[in-house]
Amino acid sequence: MRRIYNFSAGPAVHPLPVLEEASQAILEINGSGMSLLEVSHRSKDYDAIHVEAMANVLGTLGLSADEYAVCFLGGGASLQFAMLPMNFLAPGQTADYLDAGEWGSKAIAEARRVGTVNVAGSSADTKYDRIPRTLALSPPGAARYLHFTTNNTIEGTQVFALPETNGAPLTADMSSDIFAVDRDHSRFDLLYAGAQKNAGPAGVTMIVIRRSFLETAHKNLSPMLSYAVQAQKDSLYNTPPVFPIFVVNLTLKWIAAQGGLAAIEKNNREKAALIYDALDATPDFYQTCAAEPSDRSLMNITFRLADESHNAAFLAEAKKRDMDGLPGHRNVGGFRASVYNAFPAEGCQALADLLTEFARQNG
Ligand SMILES: *Cc1c(COP(=O)(O)O)cnc(C)c1O
Repeated sequence: MRRIYNFSAGPAVHPLPVLEEASQAILEINGSGMSLLEVSHRSKDYDAIHVEAMANVLGTLGLSADEYAVCFLGGGASLQFAMLPMNFLAPGQTADYLDAGEWGSKAIAEARRVGTVNVAGSSADTKYDRIPRTLALSPPGAARYLHFTTNNTIEGTQVFALPETNGAPLTADMSSDIFAVDRDHSRFDLLYAGAQKNAGPAGVTMIVIRRSFLETAHKNLSPMLSYAVQAQKDSLYNTPPVFPIFVVNLTLKWIAAQGGLAAIEKNNREKAALIYDALDATPDFYQTCAAEPSDRSLMNITFRLADESHNAAFLAEAKKRDMDGLPGHRNVGGFRASVYNAFPAEGCQALADLLTEFARQNG
């Protein structure tokens, strides 16, 4: 089997031991004579996986099941853009949103279908090259919640200091950096993440909700769109995405074996520094897309060549060195190296070497 350096932004690289164990489970689960893909979602074999996965999501984030509920839903993070306001907002009510990237702006558009959005901070006028810091929050008690994106996958910026909320419940889209940094998750009232960036395969989205916040959700929704119903049924109202949940659980066990989020964050910082240091060494040749070094994402490293006529040659050289997935998002251009938890440090070093050598040969 061949493994290249896969810099894809998502679906993205998985740990090899996770892929190996997942492939075994596709053949047979627990000596049952059946594939994981063949057992009922209400069977004993699957139930043990489901319960363990919920516990491991909370355990990894440092949260307790007394205080927080976990849901595993389909529809991607994009469905959560709509579900969050459906459950917590109403006509005439306001929610505060930070507008720091394309995904955040999509979340804002969905909230506007339901209620009023106060854009409390935006970097749209500088093409989302930074995290907005001066916020115009709603007065205390006026906003149902504040929503932001912890890591802007497309633009390559990340939030390291959690925003103030004036007392509003804190909610976030963590799709591209969940389980990547050791933040204080108990500050959040609701967080969600599609699995396919940093936590598993496409097909499942994790939602973690503080139970006291959940009690304030609307009750008169279609059951599939109701956090209250989904949480009360442990995401088994209908057939959940069994295989993606299984792989997320394997990934969480792999994270624990690495030493948990503190060790993972340390490793991610070292990996990202290899690439940023190489970019910064020749600032006339490479430019990072994030305006402030303090906003630079550890997950998605976005950069361009000062002379874009070298772009094709750079990609060809990357391909020769077994690297894939480096072109930037179509709306941003340039390049993007996505180096999620499972991306190996050797691959970061290999890209750093390419950056250094390519600048030397073409600068
Ligand atoms: C990829 C991504 C999304 C969209 O995820 P889907 O699962 O495709 O809906 C939303 N938010 C962020 C931050 C992302 O990186």
